[in-house]
Formats: sequence, structure tokens, C-alpha cells
Amino acid sequence: MKKIILFGPPGAGKGTFSAQIRDVLPEIIHISTGDILRENLKGETPLGLKAKKYMDKGELVPDDVVIDMIKDRLKKKDVKKHGFVLDGFPRTYTQAEALNNITKIDYVVLLKVDEDIIIKRILGRYSCPDCGEIYNKYFMKPKIEGVCDECGASIKFEQRSDDNEETLRNRLNVYKENANPILEFYRKKGKVKEVNYENKLTEQEVKKVLEI
Ligand code: ADP
Ligand code: ZN
Repeated sequence: MKKIILFGPPGAGKGTFSAQIRDVLPEIIHISTGDILRENLKGETPLGLKAKKYMDKGELVPDDVVIDMIKDRLKKKDVKKHGFVLDGFPRTYTQAEALNNITKIDYVVLLKVDEDIIIKRILGRYSCPDCGEIYNKYFMKPKIEGVCDECGASIKFEQRSDDNEETLRNRLNVYKENANPILEFYRKKGKVKEVNYENKLTEQEVKKVLEI
């Protein structure tokens, strides 16, 4: 049972790498704070309404809100049984400390990608509304234009509302400000594994990173 943190700047490929993890560890639970927050936004829940103004600007949602959300999620049975991949959490030193008080993780996978690639990945990315498969206008179009490779649904390029240039610059800066203290926290514990993720890894390489 693995407990993994996926770490890296926005656009490093955390969603794509999660999918690669699921290919080799099919039971593991993927927990993305961004996805949970977006679901709450869409459903206009109290949590979503609280988070909206931060997300629209590319700023971090306050720690207490996100920490409570993660605490609740990590309590669930599926997570206890199958382990988890955390995608988008912790994003601040306070969140890292809070997580450390909830559970001990096995390691942090740090995805490293050059900044100009990051920008293209983010400004070009979109996903299938039916199955969630991830595409990119510049790098990874579906084999047949407008048709999802995975499920056959019809798809078109549609950006996430916070994937515009201004918000992106803000999100990259927020990442840079927070990343080092968090990485230091885990480096001291000897838990950080660096992965160059400019190209997708092979299944063999993924297994090696995950030690399985
Ligand atoms: P990206 O990694 O591309 O920036 P995410 O989907 O991870 O996108 O997050 C989208 C937005 O959700 C962030 O800009 C932030 O406002 C909010 N968010 C997600 N995770 C956290 C977190 N751990 N702490 C605070 N805010 C978060
Ligand atoms: Zn699909």
C-alpha cells in the first residue's frame, strides 16, 4: 500500500503521471485538490463558493479550508485500504506539516519540466468531458480530430477557466514561492525522488520510480 505525493509546478504533468501510476497500481486512490475544488465550484457548495475568488485569480485557497478537505478525504475507507496519490497537496509548508500530523507518506515524486514547455502544456491543455482523458493542442491531439481516443466521445479544445496567461503567471509564481520550503521539509526526511518529465516515462521507468 503506497502513499505518494506528486509534486511539481502547474503543467508539470501531475494528472498524466497519476494516470501512469494507475496503470501499474490500479487500486490506488487519486486525490486531486484542484479536482475536488472544481467539483465544489460546479456544484456551488459552500466550500466551492469560498474557494472561487482565489481560484479565479490563480491564488491559493486558504490553508484551513484545504486542510479540512484533505483530512476528510484521507479518513475514508478506500484510502486506508488502497493508499493514495496526492496531486496538488501540500502546496504550502503549513499544509505539509498538517499532512505529516495526519499520516506518514512513503515519498514525494518531484516532476521536473522546463518552463517554456510548462507554458505550452498549460495553455494548450484540455480534457475529454466524458472520461477525463487529457489532451494538448500542441503536443497530444486525439488521433481523430474531435473524437476522444479512449471513449469515442466528441471533444473540442476548451480551456479550463484558470488556464489563461495571466493566471498562469500567477500560479507559477505562487509555486516558486512555496516549493522550496516544502521540498526541504521532505528532503530532510530523505523522501524526495526527482523525475524528469519532459517526456512520458515507460511503464518500466514508472515502476522503478515507485519501487514496485
Ligand atoms: P494547477 O496545478 O494547474 O495550478 P490545480 O488543479 O492543482 O491546478 O489547482 C487549481 C487551483 O485550485 C489553484 O490555483 C488553487 O487556487 C486551488 N488549489 C488546489 N490545490 C490547492 C492547495 N493544496 N492549496 C490551496 N489551493 C489549492
Ligand atoms: Zn473520453
